[in-house]
Amino acid sequence: MDAEEFRKHAKMAIDYIIDYNENIRNRQVLPSVEPGYLHKLIPSTAPAAPEDWSVIIPDIERFIQPGLTHWNSPNFNGFFPAGNSYPSIFGEILSAGLGCVGFNWMLSPACTELEVIVLDWLAKLMGLPEHFLAEAPGPGGGIIQGSGSEGILVALLTAKERTVRQIKPLHPNIDEGTVKAKLVAYFSDQSNSAVEKACLLGSVRIRPIKSNPNGTLKACQLKNAIVEDRENGLIPCFVVATLGTTATCAFDDLTQIGSICEAEGVWLHVDAAYAGAAFVCPEYRYLMAGLEYADSLNMNPHKWLLVNFDCSCFWVKDRAHLLNAFTVDRDYLRDHYSEIMRQNWAPNFRNWEIPLGRRFRALKLWITLRMFGESNLRNFIRKQVSMAKRFESKIQADSRFELCAPVCLGLVCFRIVGEEFLTRELLSVVLDSRELFLNGATLHGKYFLRYAICSRDMDLSDVDKGWTIISNATEAVFSRHANKSQQVIADMTNANVNTLKAGISR
Ligand SMILES: *Cc1c(COP(=O)(O)O)cnc(C)c1O
Repeated sequence: MDAEEFRKHAKMAIDYIIDYNENIRNRQVLPSVEPGYLHKLIPSTAPAAPEDWSVIIPDIERFIQPGLTHWNSPNFNGFFPAGNSYPSIFGEILSAGLGCVGFNWMLSPACTELEVIVLDWLAKLMGLPEHFLAEAPGPGGGIIQGSGSEGILVALLTAKERTVRQIKPLHPNIDEGTVKAKLVAYFSDQSNSAVEKACLLGSVRIRPIKSNPNGTLKACQLKNAIVEDRENGLIPCFVVATLGTTATCAFDDLTQIGSICEAEGVWLHVDAAYAGAAFVCPEYRYLMAGLEYADSLNMNPHKWLLVNFDCSCFWVKDRAHLLNAFTVDRDYLRDHYSEIMRQNWAPNFRNWEIPLGRRFRALKLWITLRMFGESNLRNFIRKQVSMAKRFESKIQADSRFELCAPVCLGLVCFRIVGEEFLTRELLSVVLDSRELFLNGATLHGKYFLRYAICSRDMDLSDVDKGWTIISNATEAVFSRHANKSQQVIADMTNANVNTLKAGISR
């Protein structure tokens, strides 16, 4: 393939992306394909002879497009947003095109230094505590990880190493494996699945803490669990608090939890994967009160801050703990400039993360932050919240429904009043239509639906359209059961008559 061909076809790809995004509203949000559809369309082996653009490009529309779920459609209202914006896509293209792998400073100084700078930018935009900034005098700093899950695992492994290093000198006769086997991690039953997965992968015993009725971590239970575990010879090591839980967007009380962690010498990680983006607006910062207690923090610009996947920011209060846990050296990895780097605070990010190779992800974050600017990032979040409020008011005004959690950002949790099966059926009717995507969740055994504001282009008319689909689907569920309940009444009457007859004949 030569450069001129690429020039021509890459421009076509840009046109394709623009047309796709501008017309996404007209596409059915969920695909109609059956599992295995692609096996029937694509050969089971790679081609022996090279193929040409002219045969490949039409296959995108023929084979791939029908199997897409349109995450950026205004009718996609499940999970949380998949960040996306033109400035970010532009950065992503540059990152692929420049193609550097920046795990050591000298392997692309721009890649490392831009990441240090934009992580400080973002920390300041969000009003994070100073100690997370690289430019602050302390030992803090930030890095872009591939996902929130990776950030949580990195935090866990760091906490594990710190605890082992604290315990070993106190008990020189106990071997490291014995110490590691006694470590315990704590998190609420409403924390993301990624937290439990991190503990699974990191081989740390878990102690899920029952949440309060509103889905927040019960601080007194955390305290009791830590005390109890110590009495039983275990070693409390790691606590995860969530700002914006996945099910209901609940906010754990960092002031209470943080003071417990501080008193107990336990690492506090704060998971703000979704809700962290809201802190660019000063009016939401009350939700992160107590963040100064956190040893580490993750938030995903690839969720709600207009940056496309993957871009998950991770900050640590004291990077020395991270380096202790993650540094493995080889001669071939040694950086010629290490001495100057140490003086000038230029990290070798390979010692801050799980992979060795790393992409130039800072570009898309940098370009996105510049092209929106603080003012438009704030406008974006505020507009999205106002749409959640619109949907909330629809629910509140309709006696068939009830809210299941307060709406504070872009998520509305609701259910049909009455038996659970009604809400489950509502979801299945909506999904069968493939016109709107929602998902279900539970809090303390109560099942509900999540309506999240996701697409960056969503406006009030989309909310109204979604509401109409939900409202009609609810009508359909009710009428289905209206017939059924008449049948049930008839059956019951017959049963009574039979019992009566049986009674008489006895
Ligand atoms: C989405 C989410 C995660 C996982 O983030 P990934 O980047 O998908 O790994 C973790 N915690 C919370 C609260 C989330 O909403």
